[in-house]
Amino acid sequence: MQTAPGSSPRIAVVGGGIGGLAAAGFLRKYGLQARVFEQAAELTEVGAGVVAAPNAVRLLRSLGGFEAFERTAVPLTAAWQFQRWEDGTVLSSESLVPACEELYGEKTYSAHRADLLAAVRAGVPDEWVTLGARAVDVTPVGDHYRIDLADGSSHEADVVVAADGVHSIVRERFASPQEPEPSGIVAYRSIVPAASAPAGALDPVHTLWLGPDHHFVHYPVSAGRQVNVVAFGPAGSTTDDSWSAETSVKQFRAEFDGWDPRVLALIDASDRVGRWDLLDRPPLPRWSFDGVTLLGDAAHPQFPFYAQGAAQAIEDAVTLAVTLSTTPEDPAGALRRYEALRLERTARIQEVSHGRVHVNHLPDGDAQRERDARLAIGDPLRQNGWIYGHDAEQTARRAEGLEG
Ligand SMILES: Cc1cc2nc3c(=O)[nH]c(=O)nc-3n(C[C@H](O)[C@H](O)[C@H](O)COP(=O)(O)OP(=O)(O)OC[C@H]3O[C@@H](n4cnc5c(N)ncnc54)[C@H](O)[C@@H]3O)c2cc1C
Repeated sequence: MQTAPGSSPRIAVVGGGIGGLAAAGFLRKYGLQARVFEQAAELTEVGAGVVAAPNAVRLLRSLGGFEAFERTAVPLTAAWQFQRWEDGTVLSSESLVPACEELYGEKTYSAHRADLLAAVRAGVPDEWVTLGARAVDVTPVGDHYRIDLADGSSHEADVVVAADGVHSIVRERFASPQEPEPSGIVAYRSIVPAASAPAGALDPVHTLWLGPDHHFVHYPVSAGRQVNVVAFGPAGSTTDDSWSAETSVKQFRAEFDGWDPRVLALIDASDRVGRWDLLDRPPLPRWSFDGVTLLGDAAHPQFPFYAQGAAQAIEDAVTLAVTLSTTPEDPAGALRRYEALRLERTARIQEVSHGRVHVNHLPDGDAQRERDARLAIGDPLRQNGWIYGHDAEQTARRAEGLEG
């Protein structure tokens, strides 16, 4: 599909999560317009935390959402602090101050997901967003696309950006009809008020307790008013991959029976406990199809063990905006170049995130002792420089010949 030279394509973004809103914000920054269709009745995020590493933070700054984000996000002083499950022995801890900013020009923050969503949303005009708009199909019609919504209405667009998450209907329609597979791993999450949190849990540290078949992560969010807890274990026989599924504190506690009292205290202080199955999808060989493309979890869902899913969605967003703004008259070409700039990097992050499960969940024994010895001499801040040091906007601008 080609639009007339100089004209802007009609861009529809399906999904108003972190990826979809970042896409809309960056499209606006690069002089294009978009319409976002979000199925929920309001723009909101589940009660959970997120770590924003420098590769995400520099894009938030560029998008204009950084100041709002900084008001409640917690600058972390240490990350990858691995502790032993039964007594909290610190196996390793990476100090971030001042190394993170010195190496990558930005700090690493922890934040409530709602605060990250608000930051990416800041640059998107309200009138661009249609709420309560669940897309049920996207169909090529001549040289454009028709998006059918659940309420029976339909909308036309020249470009469709599917940012509709791991269950993307657009991915299913255009890229792969395969359903995501349950991974056999379940995630528990809760938010604990600061007043109920045990000593140490409010330290600005991304802390990971490792134990047999399980690991348990926490860090402060919401300007230190809350602690985010997310923990992983075997899924067992029940499966539910919706973000809204819940379980009881009792069941969460039973899963971590015998762990350090500080872990149990965080579980006991939980009000509501979310429980959902992590889904597994291998990298796609391609994700742009003429005027349709995928973005964020719709394109490359990943295990959360590198805390990079949202960051990669934001990197996708800026890359897409740069390529589309370079050749608005040839959106299909722009979408192919967007995919080419993103495919290898996102597949690599999917793969390394996947590889962590086994390492994090080793039973006590020789392999666990070898792992702990490796952790003690590891330097994830520098070893992951290819992730944190990447500037997706600059990379795209250079590839498109916008800067040298
Ligand atoms: C336990 C856990 C911890 C994580 N921790 C981190 C972290 O620390 N750092 C990090 O960077 N990432 C983290 N992630 C990953 C991150 O949450 C996701 O990668 C990110 O939310 C993806 O954003 P998205 O916009 O692509 O998809 P989503 O957040 O899933 O948003 C999709 C949006 O599309 C809407 N939608 C869906 N279908 C339709 C439809 N048919 N029509 C209209 N709208 C639709 C949904 O309502 C939703 O608003 C974590 C993930 C998990 C599971």
